[in-house]
Amino acid sequence: MQHNYDHKKIEKKWQEKWQQDRLYKTEDRVEGKENFYSLTEFVYPSGNLHVGHWYAFAVPDIFVRFKRMQGYNVLYPTGFDSFGLPAENAAIKRGLNPKNWTNDNMEYMRGQFKTMGASFDWDREIITSDPNYYKWTQWIFGKMFEKGLAYKAESKVNWCPSCKTVLANEQVVSGACERCDSEVEIRKQPQWMLKITDYTEKLLDGLEGLDWPEQIKEQQRNWIGKSQGAEIAFKIKNTDKEIRVFTTRPDTLFGVSYVVLAPEHPLVSELKHSKEVEKYIAKTLKKSELDRQSEQKDKTGIKLEGVWAINPANNEELPVFIADYVLAGYGTGAVMAVPAHDQRDFEFAQKFDLPIKQVIAPFFVDSENPPIEGKEMTPRRIVQAIVKHPTEDKIVQIQWKKQPWKTFVIGGAEEGETYEEAVRREVLEETGYQNIKSLKRVGWQMESHFYAAHKDVNRQAFVQVFEVQLEDLEQQELSSEEQGLHEVVWVPTTEMHKSFNPVSEKPHILAHFNKEPFAYTGEGILINSGNFDGLRSEETREKITKEIGGQLKTTYRLRDWSIGRQRYWGTPIPIVFDPEGVAHLVPEKYLPWILPEDVDFTPTGKPPLAKSVRLKKRTEEVFGKGWTPEVDTMDTFVDSSWYFLRYLDHQNEKEFASLEKQSKWMPVEQYFGGSEQTTLHLLYSRFFQKFLFDQGLVKENEPYKKRLNRGLILGPDGAKMSKSRGNVINPDELVERVGADTVRTYLAFIGPYNEPGSYPWDTGGIAGIRRFLERVIAVVQGVSEKTDSKVENLLQKTIKKVTNDIAEFKFNTAISSMMSFLNQSNGKLSLNQIQTLLKILAPFAPYLTEELWQSQGMSDSIHLQKWPEFREVQDEVVKIAIQIDGKVRGVLEVQVDTEEAQLLESMSNNKDISKWLKDDYQVKKLVPNRIISIVNA
Ligand SMILES: [Zn+2]
Repeated sequence: MQHNYDHKKIEKKWQEKWQQDRLYKTEDRVEGKENFYSLTEFVYPSGNLHVGHWYAFAVPDIFVRFKRMQGYNVLYPTGFDSFGLPAENAAIKRGLNPKNWTNDNMEYMRGQFKTMGASFDWDREIITSDPNYYKWTQWIFGKMFEKGLAYKAESKVNWCPSCKTVLANEQVVSGACERCDSEVEIRKQPQWMLKITDYTEKLLDGLEGLDWPEQIKEQQRNWIGKSQGAEIAFKIKNTDKEIRVFTTRPDTLFGVSYVVLAPEHPLVSELKHSKEVEKYIAKTLKKSELDRQSEQKDKTGIKLEGVWAINPANNEELPVFIADYVLAGYGTGAVMAVPAHDQRDFEFAQKFDLPIKQVIAPFFVDSENPPIEGKEMTPRRIVQAIVKHPTEDKIVQIQWKKQPWKTFVIGGAEEGETYEEAVRREVLEETGYQNIKSLKRVGWQMESHFYAAHKDVNRQAFVQVFEVQLEDLEQQELSSEEQGLHEVVWVPTTEMHKSFNPVSEKPHILAHFNKEPFAYTGEGILINSGNFDGLRSEETREKITKEIGGQLKTTYRLRDWSIGRQRYWGTPIPIVFDPEGVAHLVPEKYLPWILPEDVDFTPTGKPPLAKSVRLKKRTEEVFGKGWTPEVDTMDTFVDSSWYFLRYLDHQNEKEFASLEKQSKWMPVEQYFGGSEQTTLHLLYSRFFQKFLFDQGLVKENEPYKKRLNRGLILGPDGAKMSKSRGNVINPDELVERVGADTVRTYLAFIGPYNEPGSYPWDTGGIAGIRRFLERVIAVVQGVSEKTDSKVENLLQKTIKKVTNDIAEFKFNTAISSMMSFLNQSNGKLSLNQIQTLLKILAPFAPYLTEELWQSQGMSDSIHLQKWPEFREVQDEVVKIAIQIDGKVRGVLEVQVDTEEAQLLESMSNNKDISKWLKDDYQVKKLVPNRIISIVNA
């Protein structure tokens, strides 16, 4: 059935009307309404809104409209993050000025935003390349400069050879430029930096109180990378020199088997070394840091012959290596290598045949049989053997006769017996198998505490597991004593995980069984560590460090933020240099420090601003002869680090945003954005907010109360949309063909917005949404005279579901519940019910619902209506007695008025009842909602 759904006419009509009525103008205060600041990361003016933009803005708009109808005064502003490289590159390609190109794009995109039906307050639009905006970016930079948080220093920087500019660490993804994917080079040059590292602790602490998904918080924590450890000195034998290492695990000090210096370490040149060492160093210096870190398996290195480092814990003499897996820029550029407890050291030690000494034992307390307080703790060495069948993929399981559990071959080592000897003896005693082909340790020695009931003592067990490969099945008869205790069973190896005791050691055994050996990096109990034996690893770190004269240290992975860019289209850094080359801040009265336009901005690697005659002239006129301007511009991430504040007071010429305006809206209640911003914009803007807070310029310590990272829309083929793949969906075409309401609702329907998944485009889904909206039109046109109480109950449940789902960003299930309501109600709704349905659909399909609403004679916009309240509707449940051959055999709980066929099905699904039923039974009597009587034939 085709309905008269002229989306073009409807959508155009309401766009004009809403604009005319200034429907989305947001006042700072509305009597009786609470303010609610909802924000979506603003766009870069690329020139065209794609499906991703629609997903980013139109779906949160559903939430915004919902909050408005719930009675909040909601601010949902937008603007343009309009400085930046892409504009500059595009302008160069077209021979245009980036400013004009950007302005044209913004104009076009505003039009696209309007078709989307997003309820932005355009009066508050901000444009970061507008001098009225970047004046304040410069002003905030100045505050940081005055506080010593903005500085220019020679440092190692990431250089993108294609973008011809420096990048921040956060803009380098797996060694490549996040914009253009070119491999980043490391250069040394003077660079403007912001001292975000002064805020590491504040940035970490602040995360605690935020209502953000734990995963996002954890990513920021990892990026900041706080680690607590120690700096420890290893003296070099027969010299007055020492190697200082940083380690997060001083508790493993007794397990050090060699020391490694980075090839760049200054000590290398002072120590005696061979030609080969020099060659090795020259070779590694050509590699990038990323390559050096990613060479996982094939570790390279070279020994410094005749050089020995002294372990301060036990005075052991250790060989010294140079290896490129150690980087000069991290820690001290030297590491103490503990192969047993660090995977990189483990691989290196295997390759160079160095000792691997275990000093931390994984520790378990048997949860089913824990030690009893007050009982003596008795140490015992225990072996377990996983005995493998000579030809089949099976292992031995010992089935104990007096206990309900199964174990591997298990037993204690006698005094003076090695673990290996004990295993051989136990295998023979418990299984009778005589010929062992090979023995191999599985995992590391563990320590396990439990209560041994038969001896009435607590056990401190040192457990070592072995893999035992049998040569053949030649078997001795078991002693009658052993036979009385247990049985030997062969089980498929794949079933070994199913049940075995002791349970606590199981994960460690399963992780290591049938695998190449690897380091144990967890916590545990110290062993082979002199006086520290028996202590918990976590508790030993400080103790051991102090005892050997080391220093406790906290380090962070986060580095200062490099913000200078050698490109044109950005905020000029408001700095000038006096004739001696000292940097001075451009005073506030000269702000905005305007970006000059007489510039050839073709990228050459030299900052384009250096070529501006006017900028040079302006500088000399203001400051005097011989003064020169800074010619780097700021990274765009500086512009966006405070933009959410400017929406609140965008015309203020005296302040970036007054405290009074801020107090009305901050913090942002709900912030929607992309997951790629977690360690970029989201981190930077928190830093800005905290800096401004310390200056008393903002009242809130954190900018965003709640954060949601949206998912990704993929092409119909399930791959990322890209022009080269030809799988790009053009939203403009779709809007033309099916209307913005269908596109919005479809995007909301594609998957849960509260989970950062990726969702392939489904063309059939679009058609389904369009049919749903057509169905709504049909229902409105066929209004029913009377109110059906069943339909009314269903509607109440639907309102409840939609209300709760929108609040949790589960827009998809909100839509399915409305669809299901339409299906179940058969489209027969009273006028009142229709109005309610339109209201709960309004946030999704703002145009169509407005049209249908006003076609019902309503004059106020549907978007100004109050969100419908709902009444709790309980599903009525009754108990039905099931009588079979005259006896009540059970009771079924079912919905009221359940019919016979449904009842019989429920009965046959219920084992307790169906066992009384023969194949051909008959229903003798059914008293609805009370009893059903059955006779077996
Ligand atoms: Zn690049």
